[in-house]
Amino acid sequence: AEPDEPAPKRGILGRLMGRGGAAPVARRVLDDAMLEQLEELLITADMGVDTALRVTANMAEGRLGKKLSVTEIKTLMSDEIARIMEPVAKPLPIYAKKPQVVLVVGVNGSGKTTTIGKLASQFCAAGKKVVIAAGDTFRAAAVEQLQVWGERAGVPVLTAAHGSDPASLAFDAMVKAEEDGADLLMIDTAGRLQNRGDLMEELAKIVRVIRKKDPDAPHNTLLVLDATTGQNAVNQVKVFQDISDVSGLVMTKLDGTAKGGVLVALADKFGLPIHAIGVGEQIDDLQAFDPQDFADALTG
Ligand code: GDP
Repeated sequence: AEPDEPAPKRGILGRLMGRGGAAPVARRVLDDAMLEQLEELLITADMGVDTALRVTANMAEGRLGKKLSVTEIKTLMSDEIARIMEPVAKPLPIYAKKPQVVLVVGVNGSGKTTTIGKLASQFCAAGKKVVIAAGDTFRAAAVEQLQVWGERAGVPVLTAAHGSDPASLAFDAMVKAEEDGADLLMIDTAGRLQNRGDLMEELAKIVRVIRKKDPDAPHNTLLVLDATTGQNAVNQVKVFQDISDVSGLVMTKLDGTAKGGVLVALADKFGLPIHAIGVGEQIDDLQAFDPQDFADALTG
């Protein structure tokens, strides 16, 4: 028989069926060897050892030694993953507080500016008034890109001279957002991890300064993660939790070959809400995180 999917695109189910492309109805005994194979597949999918073990242990509960079809195994696995993901699937909460300040952090290239543009567009469409602050004053390209996104979304983008103090820009943005009666202020930040100390100080200063206008700000600190970095995302969460008060996640680039298996490890380890996922480079390519869709795609 022909394998029904080419190797590089094969997900967990495809690999479970093997190179010969066993039929999805082929039955397998759910024994230790099978569980070990499943565990390996999950680890290959960036889920990490602990989480992979938890998923397979849950799958085995009450079913050890039973004969299941490949499709049944896939469904079981998918449901276990969805169960882990359900508590973290939460859209960005919108508060009555005006302006709600959303600090957006993440390493450069993860998709911060793109995500800000997409979110701004979504909030505008929902009738919210948004202001954006281009807080990475050292990255001319990021500032320009935000301006383009701002134009597309019809949202003002505050910028400052190259290399000027991001905290002072953030303060000006708070003033502007208040003046405009904006519902949301989104602040882009630098993502140069090479010098963690500087970055920490920069973020701390932004927070200190915006708290002069509102002691509860920022109301959200959104960490943007790139799905193509795989297990690296675990480390990025740790680092950004150290240097800021991460309140939620967005994972970008889930439209490519990366299926974001690391999100399961993140949900399991940190329990941070996943507010949205990026599925392309266009303004509408931001979706709510759907645990079952995600789990099905991951195991499919
Ligand atoms: P930043 O450095 O964190 O601000 O990252 P950018 O927003 O500039 O994004 C880096 C690159 O990733 C750009 O080329 C974006 O078009 C691209 N990108 C961002 N989000 C997505 C996504 O969800 N899918 C795809 N395919 N590309 C994305």
